[in-house]
Amino acid sequence: METLLKELSNKIEVNLTEEQISKFVTYKELLKDWNQKINLTAITEDSEIVLKHFVDSLTVLKYIPQNANVIDVGTGAGFPGIPTKIAREDVSVTLLDSLNKRINFLNDVIEKTNLENIKTVHGRAEDFGQNKEYRERYDVAVARAVANLSTLTELCLPFVKVSGSFIAMKGNSTEEFEEAQKAIEMLGGKIEKIDKFNLPGTDIERNIVVIKKINKTPNQYPRKAGTPANKPIK
Ligand code: SAM
Repeated sequence: METLLKELSNKIEVNLTEEQISKFVTYKELLKDWNQKINLTAITEDSEIVLKHFVDSLTVLKYIPQNANVIDVGTGAGFPGIPTKIAREDVSVTLLDSLNKRINFLNDVIEKTNLENIKTVHGRAEDFGQNKEYRERYDVAVARAVANLSTLTELCLPFVKVSGSFIAMKGNSTEEFEEAQKAIEMLGGKIEKIDKFNLPGTDIERNIVVIKKINKTPNQYPRKAGTPANKPIK
């Protein structure tokens, strides 16, 4: 697993040290152990974990400025927040998820890999987005596989400071991106770019949508828990 991780991360221009690689090994072992007891991931082969979880998560690094304060919304088993923190000692990371069992897993990973400047938060993005200790306090919000882009922007953009950015990791859906235009604008954002690429050595397509925050998010957003998904802004 170590060789594959090194090789594939090099292909996306991320050079991991031996110490960082060994943290990924610990993370992978904990992921497989805990996955026997609680549902964390359907991906269980080492090579697939490396490609579809670790390397996929690391593709977000180049969009994160030096020393950024980052929140990973709906982090699940820690993607992309934990790989980001392992690879980038300069950033501070908050991992947010509404499922407490997953938070317990993440705390175990943080402890066993000795990560610093990283914390977990149990709760819903809709609630924390209205909490003044979290609202507009982050340079970057990231999210992978949580909701469609309109809903996801309502969950994530409130956390971002004006002039910061929201980075959405997505499969291919031009239609979804077009449908989210109105929500992005109403919430204070603007699509800066959409980068399309394949995961290294595969034809698996990925899109990274970079949304710049240009205005404050109006106070009524995010709406109450469940509404952003049930009634997406159109
Ligand atoms: N980001 C991870 C990944 O890419 O592997 C996890 C994706 S998983 C499909 C979606 C996660 O988002 C779940 O762990 C779920 O509990 C969390 N989630 C969904 N809606 C949420 C909300 N409104 N607030 C906080 N967490 C949420």
